[in-house]
Amino acid sequence: MSASLPARVEVVVIGGGIVGCSIAYHLAKLGISDVVLLERRSLTCGTTWHAAGLVGQLRATRNLTELAKYTADLLRELEAETGQATGYRQNGSIGVALNAERFEEMKRGASMARSFGLEVEVLSPREVMDRYPP
Ligand SMILES: Cc1cc2nc3c(=O)[nH]c(=O)nc-3n(C[C@H](O)[C@H](O)[C@H](O)COP(=O)(O)OP(=O)(O)OC[C@H]3O[C@@H](n4cnc5c(N)ncnc54)[C@H](O)[C@@H]3O)c2cc1C
Repeated sequence: MSASLPARVEVVVIGGGIVGCSIAYHLAKLGISDVVLLERRSLTCGTTWHAAGLVGQLRATRNLTELAKYTADLLRELEAETGQATGYRQNGSIGVALNAERFEEMKRGASMARSFGLEVEVLSPREVMDRYPP
């Protein structure tokens, strides 16, 4: 972090939340390193500070799912690439349907996820208990 600002830069990114930081990172990765990121308070102090850190991969469209998959892959590799610990752990998740309608909706979601190339299983209550004992 720097207190003095250059007089000219190629790109100015305003806002040091996850989106601004990600833009600066990806620009640098593309070879555009003449970048200044301006944050009015401190890095990640905005909405990003509140995030639980969950990285869900199934999204409403194929493109959004591809983007979320890219994020999951990136987070897995970021520590090795940058030396910065991210604390990222990929555990997967279990969604529970409390009624038949929700179960139907989740099964449709599972089949969409499979067609997007995500690893998804439909579990019985017994299988859920085996994986996540009470
Ligand atoms: C309680 C909660 C939990 C969440 N959990 C998750 C989760 O588990 N997984 C998930 O994917 N998403 C989660 N989200 C959503 C996620 O946090 C946001 O989508 C994300 O942080 C938005 O990032 P951002 O960079 O767009 O915005 P911000 O993090 O708000 O960043 C904007 C930055 O811009 C700065 N700024 C604003 N104006 C200026 C200016 N004029 N000059 C300089 N700087 C400026 C602000 O200070 C701020 O730091 C959660 C959100 C909340 C509220």
